[in-house]
Amino acid sequence: MLVKRALFFIILIVLSLSGCATVQRRTIVEKKNEIFLKDFCQHYGLSWEWDHVSQTIRFSDKNNEISLLLGSRVMFVGDKKIFLSAPVVLRESLVVLPRDFLQFIVIHVRVKIKDDTDYKILKVKKIIIDAGHGGHDPGAIGGDKTYEKDIVLAIARGLKNFLEKEGFEVQLTRGDDRFLSLKERSEISANIDADLFISIHANASLNKRVQGIEVFSLKDLSEEQKGEEQLLSHERTFLKRVTGKSPDQPLREIVSDMLYTYKQAESEALARNIVKESIQYTRAVNRGVKYAQFYVLRNTLIPAILIEVGFLSHKQEERSLKKASYQQKIIEGIGKGIVSYANN
Ligand SMILES: [Zn+2]
Repeated sequence: MLVKRALFFIILIVLSLSGCATVQRRTIVEKKNEIFLKDFCQHYGLSWEWDHVSQTIRFSDKNNEISLLLGSRVMFVGDKKIFLSAPVVLRESLVVLPRDFLQFIVIHVRVKIKDDTDYKILKVKKIIIDAGHGGHDPGAIGGDKTYEKDIVLAIARGLKNFLEKEGFEVQLTRGDDRFLSLKERSEISANIDADLFISIHANASLNKRVQGIEVFSLKDLSEEQKGEEQLLSHERTFLKRVTGKSPDQPLREIVSDMLYTYKQAESEALARNIVKESIQYTRAVNRGVKYAQFYVLRNTLIPAILIEVGFLSHKQEERSLKKASYQQKIIEGIGKGIVSYANN
């Protein structure tokens, strides 16, 4: 409590040194322990840039470049690393900062830059939808000769339409019946600035009674797996795009760690939303959220999940999966899951 009070007064002193109306300043400071970035920008006449791919927020003036990463406590002022008391988070499309951010920012950013009121940002803008298999690879085959590659392509296309109507930008890894390697699929996600990667598959089991929907999120990777060449190469591409140069090793490690932590937590939240909504729409058996190290989950930097929409080895489920009306239920379930994740 004493520490909190002391901090409060330090902030007041710091703020009163930099010259705006005290009343206005206090409205920012007195919000319990956090600050909305939009309030801060309005009060100080600062502008900032949001890069939705890297989830970074950047301020710059003649002397400093300051970056924050969503979901992280680290703030970079030039090359200097500062640890905030809590992570920067997004709530109802607004960036929320811990209160000690004020101390640091007021000290480091002195030059006022032009006002920017365009602060409302979206957590998710562009989505990649990946229909599994294709071309010479049919995927699972049902007893009635239903091919997984056809079912998942129909669902991927329908999901694209659904999400576009909801205002998202959508890119399919394949829009027709062609073969794509796993490497090509993960490369698409590294090269375009998407926010989510959704891979769609259908299942098969030797046990013909198994049925239902399950969604996979990434299982924790070992240090060795985090150092896999494909992943490192995507990180280099990503960092070069964000920073405009090849980053040094310490920065690369920090960012890599931040991305991994962010991705793990977000993929799981996304998977939970999708399971909940798809079960509600389809009334299928709920096989829940599972964890795996599939290639496309392992080698993407953005939150990524893999949906198994049902079992082609189950007679009744195969019949349902072929029906456009049932596919539409799956599409709406996955779509609503994504929408509710994006709005949260
Ligand atoms: Zn598959």
